[in-house]
Amino acid sequence: MAEIIVVGGGAAGMMAAIKAAERLKDDGKNKQGAVLLLEHNEKLGKKLFITGKGRCNVTNACDTEDLFLNICHNPKFLYSSIYGFDNQCVMNFFEKQGTALKIERGGRVFPVSDHSSDVIKALSEALRKNGVEVILGADVEEIILSDDGGSVSGLKYKLNRKSCSVSCQKVILATGGLSYVSTGSTGDGLRWALDMGHAITETRPSLVPFVCKEEYVRKLQGLSLKNVTVTIFSGSKKLYSDFGEMLFTHFGVSGPLILSASAAVGDKVIKEPLSMVIDLKSALDFDTLDRRLLRDFDENINKNFENAVAGLLPSKLIPVVIELSGLDPKKKVHDISKEERQNFVRLLKAFPCTITGLRDYNEAIITRGGVAVKGINPSTMESKLVNGLYFAGEMIDVDAKTGGFNLQIAWSTGCLAGTSAAESI
Ligand SMILES: Cc1cc2nc3c(=O)[nH]c(=O)nc-3n(C[C@H](O)[C@H](O)[C@H](O)COP(=O)(O)OP(=O)(O)OC[C@H]3O[C@@H](n4cnc5c(N)ncnc54)[C@H](O)[C@@H]3O)c2cc1C
Repeated sequence: MAEIIVVGGGAAGMMAAIKAAERLKDDGKNKQGAVLLLEHNEKLGKKLFITGKGRCNVTNACDTEDLFLNICHNPKFLYSSIYGFDNQCVMNFFEKQGTALKIERGGRVFPVSDHSSDVIKALSEALRKNGVEVILGADVEEIILSDDGGSVSGLKYKLNRKSCSVSCQKVILATGGLSYVSTGSTGDGLRWALDMGHAITETRPSLVPFVCKEEYVRKLQGLSLKNVTVTIFSGSKKLYSDFGEMLFTHFGVSGPLILSASAAVGDKVIKEPLSMVIDLKSALDFDTLDRRLLRDFDENINKNFENAVAGLLPSKLIPVVIELSGLDPKKKVHDISKEERQNFVRLLKAFPCTITGLRDYNEAIITRGGVAVKGINPSTMESKLVNGLYFAGEMIDVDAKTGGFNLQIAWSTGCLAGTSAAESI
């Protein structure tokens, strides 16, 4: 029998197990195996390994209060967990484990080594030091409740095709969301939570690329743009606008700016197509850009239009923008009217596309939605319905923008779930 079983060896589960064991130790109650961590993959932290393009953006070094501004859903639910184990605590934790960290643009924190494997090593070492028993390849199948259904009493899992059952006082579910299923996030925890009476808010992929309607968008695949402003509308209502980097793909658009936009407008996109305009020349306002074009035209007065604008944009974009402008690429610059030129400027300031959908979970950095927060005590992460059942990480209906904030949620909720489970043993 274990005292506490953590299901899921991702960021939240590993932190929960470490903090539970640390607390039991502080209270003189820890013995080898008192905390058991079950993971159905053959290794820990499979998703962590691919985070931050293999570099793992562990958290964000912003002011603690600013963490909440970067949480898209249910930030208030996270007050206790984040104030209990904030971004500074996360940095101290890893530095103490010997993983030196560095801060990059936008406060993003990475290991100095640029290797996510070092983050996993630090967590694995902390698990070992605190006597957490880890069973890999353990596919948890069922949470066992007391006869009256009011508290947890154990769980069943399969190991090497053998069915095992183990009793315990507390179960911490940290099975993740539904995105990147190949990393082990299969949604099992959401199904168990539902079976145990928890409401699950509607889930959808988030921090995910957009599918676009236009064929010309697909023609631009592989082109990445820096310093552009993307604005998204529903009809004439502006829903979102931000500045940054994006990428054209074989289905639509992706890149940091687009992933962030998907967190803001994803709920709308799944209901109706949205129009998006890209300001290809954000640094120049309309008049300045018009003057720049006029200068280019003056210098190339006898050239073809397509050659006169060659220096203005990446070469892949030129034929597409010219086609959209309706101007003949071979037209001599001196034959282009003021109106035609200004229409072209308008196009550069608002390159149009139509967002028709989101790519699926396999391309989504996170899952939006999950176990409804109204069923979880925010001061402990314990279920309000089942005693001894705790939740941590992405499976809860909380999500954040890119920049290290989603992992911060995993560390903070994991820490609180682990500590509170151990405190009540
Ligand atoms: C490509 C990519 C890059 C990302 N980069 C960043 C980044 O740089 N910074 C950032 O903040 N966030 C990033 N994220 C998001 C972040 O990785 C997640 O929000 C975070 O890992 C969630 O942690 P978790 O522990 O809740 O879930 P997970 O990491 O998904 O862990 C859940 C674990 O539970 C296990 N499990 C599930 N069901 C069972 C079962 N039945 N039995 C046993 N085990 C089970 C799974 O195998 C898995 O190991 C990225 C996500 C992706 C996909």
